Amino acid sequence: MKKNKYPIIWSKKNFSIKIFCSIPNIATGILVKAGDANFVVDPGDGILRDLNKELKINEILSISDVFITHGHHDHVGGVWSLLTYLRVMNKETPLVIHYPKGCLEIVHIHNAFNRVYSGNISYKIVLREIDGDKEFKSKKVTIKPFPVIHKEYLSDNKTTRQVPALGYKFIYDNIKICYGGDTAYCDDLVKHAKNSDLAILEAGHDDDTPDDMHMTLSEATSIGKSAKEYYLVHVPE
Ligand SMILES: [Zn+2]
Ligand SMILES: [Zn+2]
Repeated sequence: MKKNKYPIIWSKKNFSIKIFCSIPNIATGILVKAGDANFVVDPGDGILRDLNKELKINEILSISDVFITHGHHDHVGGVWSLLTYLRVMNKETPLVIHYPKGCLEIVHIHNAFNRVYSGNISYKIVLREIDGDKEFKSKKVTIKPFPVIHKEYLSDNKTTRQVPALGYKFIYDNIKICYGGDTAYCDDLVKHAKNSDLAILEAGHDDDTPDDMHMTLSEATSIGKSAKEYYLVHVPE
């Protein structure tokens, strides 16, 4: 296992991933580059700062797809500022936002954005709800979404409910990167991480008793070992 220090950078041929940060309850921010394509995954708070450090402005404007694993603030906190920034900078090409069906946060951020800037947005935003695990392509990258198990506490801090949550496997030039998002140990993640060139796995649970919210260190490690390389992220600091 590589040490969990941010940013985490990994690349193979023309395919790379940079995890700017992944701290539970604070922020996540991931950039995937495949040839000329730039994808953002889980734009949490701070994403604009990190993208601006990493990319030239024309590269930021060329971002074509945003992938959301689930609606928790540490994964979507930067969506509003990203959409607004792209408008201010006059992005012209479309932006597709992929998100799990039922993720109200994305739907409402998008609605609010449209309402605030109605008729005055330089680029097209396409919301692409993902229902199921059908693979699709964008910019020569094959994307396989898969369902994962993730929960949140209600306001009583005791009751939990399941949140719509996905992991994504990105395949480009035969190279496979599997990102599980936030998830408990689950068979779909086990299946998709296996034999990936890289698995990005959360180990967000803070003790060794498994639950339905996050993975323990040993659960995440056991899955990681089935991939060629892996990083554990979202570890409580
Ligand atoms: Zn999280
Ligand atoms: Zn979460």
